Amino acid sequence: MASYKAPTQDILFVLNDILKIDELTAIERFADASPDIVAGVVEEAAKVIEEEIAPLNHKGDEIGCKYADGEVDVPPGYVEAYKLFQEGGWIGLANEPDFGGQGLPFVLSKVVGEMVCGANVAFELYIGLTQDCYEAIMANGSDEQKQTYCHKLATGEWTGTMCMTEPQAGSDVGAVKAKAIPQEDGSYAIEGGKIFITSGEHRMADNIIHFVLARLPDSPPGVKGLSTFVVPKYLVNEDGSLGERNAVKAVSIEEKMGMHGSVTCTMAFDGAKGWLVGKPNQGIQNMFVMMNLARIMVGFQGLGLCELATQNAINYARERVQGKAYNGSNLIVEHPDVRRTLMHMKAITEGGRVLAYEISKYLDLATHHADEAVREEAQDWVELLTPIHKAFLTDSGVELASMAIQVYGGHGYISEHGIEQIARDAKICCLYEGTNGIQAMDLARRKLLMHNGRLPQRFFDAVNTAIEGADADLAWLIGPLAKAVGELKATTDWIQNSFNNDPNDAGAGAADYLRGFALTLLGYNWLRTVQAVAGRDDDFARAKRATAKFFAQRLLPEVQGRCEMARAGSEDFMSLSAAAL
Ligand SMILES: Cc1cc2nc3c(=O)[nH]c(=O)nc-3n(C[C@H](O)[C@H](O)[C@H](O)COP(=O)(O)OP(=O)(O)OC[C@H]3O[C@@H](n4cnc5c(N)ncnc54)[C@H](O)[C@@H]3O)c2cc1C
Repeated sequence: MASYKAPTQDILFVLNDILKIDELTAIERFADASPDIVAGVVEEAAKVIEEEIAPLNHKGDEIGCKYADGEVDVPPGYVEAYKLFQEGGWIGLANEPDFGGQGLPFVLSKVVGEMVCGANVAFELYIGLTQDCYEAIMANGSDEQKQTYCHKLATGEWTGTMCMTEPQAGSDVGAVKAKAIPQEDGSYAIEGGKIFITSGEHRMADNIIHFVLARLPDSPPGVKGLSTFVVPKYLVNEDGSLGERNAVKAVSIEEKMGMHGSVTCTMAFDGAKGWLVGKPNQGIQNMFVMMNLARIMVGFQGLGLCELATQNAINYARERVQGKAYNGSNLIVEHPDVRRTLMHMKAITEGGRVLAYEISKYLDLATHHADEAVREEAQDWVELLTPIHKAFLTDSGVELASMAIQVYGGHGYISEHGIEQIARDAKICCLYEGTNGIQAMDLARRKLLMHNGRLPQRFFDAVNTAIEGADADLAWLIGPLAKAVGELKATTDWIQNSFNNDPNDAGAGAADYLRGFALTLLGYNWLRTVQAVAGRDDDFARAKRATAKFFAQRLLPEVQGRCEMARAGSEDFMSLSAAAL
């Protein structure tokens, strides 16, 4: 059975030695987030997650969620584990203390999120979307809405959803048809159906707060006519107690490839009472607050699954006896092809962890730093890194799950070991919160052009400075990295200019470009990793240097091919008629 051990040593190494997380203590709000507190939170959370949440992963997959008469039963043990986690104060770690949160850095809440995802990714969805719903209401809700909903979301007493998707409105949210009809008391009657709504119905919390995209009467067509509404499952009385049941219910739940512990609902809003959040027709901007955070959350799901796949594959390979390696050992970990696979998995997971934590640290700086210039730079990084983090880490979740199955051989393909579950759970992460194709377009067609190309330039400046400042004895890494950076820069220029020629070109090359960018970024992360272990000669440091070398020799060269593919243009295949495909 797949097991999960939180990688606390690596987590703390990335936070302290690479990202210098103690810098955040200079921000008044985070003054208490000392390295000791950070370590305490990580170690304590790891314990609860390993003991209470991880053991539910396989059973949750096997039993799944059950629907009857509008009610949903989550898998056995979920309600109790959720309550324990919620009462432990783990849900609102980064939320405002005035609203029931702990006021700790966002990055720390995401570290805990990574561990929950590794332990039981389906379970994490109940928590992650609750957090994102909290932030969406905090960003654009009225004071009354914040008072009514945000405390309970921060403490996790209530959970949240994101209600966007309809049958005709998937990637194209502008096609949403759900209606919001103004009522005399200032509320709105929400009418319409939503599909694929994660955590739309369950009995894990006392109330469910739906954050809904709908259309006011006479609103303009497309995304400019969308507004956001908060729609509780149970109406909330003035004193905060729960009132009558609202006219929103789950009419069915989906059977899915994976994520069986997470319930996915078809929701009917039959004149449900809702309240406008923010201004009319600004729903897409409001929803993007939630979506951008959800994209970061989903990237962490990918990372958690990469870790789960990697540690199980390594543990299995250390014990599986098969054949005889050249050194005489009969363990498969000694076969070079198996070792190559494991190194690949480690290189992506550990390099990806730096990416994931860094975007989260930037979000803390962008939100809370006193200096406007620091906030602006941090926000640029968040914008640039979000599509890369989301798409690359979730694609990697699928890739590494497949590699773990390969390491297990046929034992990975059968259900007993729980390894094939990782692959089934991982695939959805490439699809929701904007498919990875949409992420690639966001990077190539939007982020590269924002502020006259300032975003990618920040990356090129940072990585070139790091290369120039690196010791000559790191030539084995800075050589391939500099080459990758040169290719990526040329391709970035090419994509930025491609809009003057054929706009299809950027779309056709976007996915390859994103992967090329991600691998270059991980090269930069591996450079900072080996610099952080310089002078050390313990197993941890030796493994870091060997993995960095593997990355430089086996993964960085892929950047060149990806960049060539990204620059190949689209004319040949786009000029074919769809019928001729
Ligand atoms: C298990 C699960 C949970 C979900 N949870 C939620 C939830 O909680 N809330 C919610 O609102 N939704 C949720 N969704 C919906 C999910 O976000 C959508 O399925 C997703 O956005 C894709 O939409 P679609 O399925 O309609 O695919 P489509 O939009 O039809 O896309 C099909 C393909 O076309 C590509 N494509 C589409 N448009 C473009 C374009 N403009 N440029 C390039 N390529 C394009 C896509 O990349 C994709 O490969 C969930 C879905 C599932 C399966």
